[in-house]
Amino acid sequence: MKNNITIIIVLLFVLCSCKRETKSKIINNTISSSVRISFDSITQIESLKILSSDSYLGRETGTKGAELSRNYIADKFTALKLDKLGGSYFQSFPYNGSNDHGDVKEGLAYNVIGLIRGREQSNKFIVVGAHYDHLGTSGKKVYNGADDNASGTAALFSIATYFKENPPKHSIIIAAWDGEEIGLLGSQYYVNHPIILQKDILCNINMDMIGRSEKNELFITGTPHNKLLMDSVVTSLYSNKIKILTGHDGDDREDDWTYSSDHGSFHKKGIPFLYFGVEDHKDYHKTSDVFESIQQAFYLEATRVVIQATKRADECFTR
Ligand SMILES: [Zn+2]
Repeated sequence: MKNNITIIIVLLFVLCSCKRETKSKIINNTISSSVRISFDSITQIESLKILSSDSYLGRETGTKGAELSRNYIADKFTALKLDKLGGSYFQSFPYNGSNDHGDVKEGLAYNVIGLIRGREQSNKFIVVGAHYDHLGTSGKKVYNGADDNASGTAALFSIATYFKENPPKHSIIIAAWDGEEIGLLGSQYYVNHPIILQKDILCNINMDMIGRSEKNELFITGTPHNKLLMDSVVTSLYSNKIKILTGHDGDDREDDWTYSSDHGSFHKKGIPFLYFGVEDHKDYHKTSDVFESIQQAFYLEATRVVIQATKRADECFTR
């Protein structure tokens, strides 16, 4: 009997340890087919550090911290010479939502949106986005949100830099969303009040928490909904430093991330999306999500993978 129990325990252990491999698809190609992707990694890390510093007060929608953050992002867009849609980088909208702590808030929120015009089909757009808002403060404690989502926000600057230097075929919208933590409100407002026609959006590429992973794993969610993105974009991705996996689409035993961040707003409108992110970690939505916990090598490589994906999507869409 004891032996049987031992065998069952061993079997259970083996089954559990195989869980990831059987439920998620590992993408990593062994041979790089893409050109070298370079960007200013020191500036990106510095931007993350600034946005997640105490002075930015946790970037809560409608607060002084949010105002500082959006002005910082707009200054970056200006320095990068991004074009404006509708005459301003800011898209304001009234909001009413409740945060992680159950507090209902209302006021005015601001997406920050810049544009890189395409060299061939400039009337078609890839929207690359990341939310910049976070949870604010609690008493004297600051929710710095280094991974969630100063990481994605600062990566936007490197992505913009790359495509300014390597002009894309289609136009690329660089969007820093507000109000994500109170219900994906910024991206929802954007898709419901499009500055450009919805039919002209080719896809959304979303980053939310790409700054650390103990298992060295970057997940991509969204592939079951679009064959082109799966077959021509995701399968071409390459990294010899981090593990790239698809999953969390509701068809495996992992948490379903289809509506977990701003890509959900695009999906509701039938727009294809790829979401890049890591699994929740011990500091998720805690005051300990700080700059020092970012794994810089992982973070920079994750950014490189998102640039690869954006570049590949730009090459693949033909309409
Ligand atoms: Zn987030």
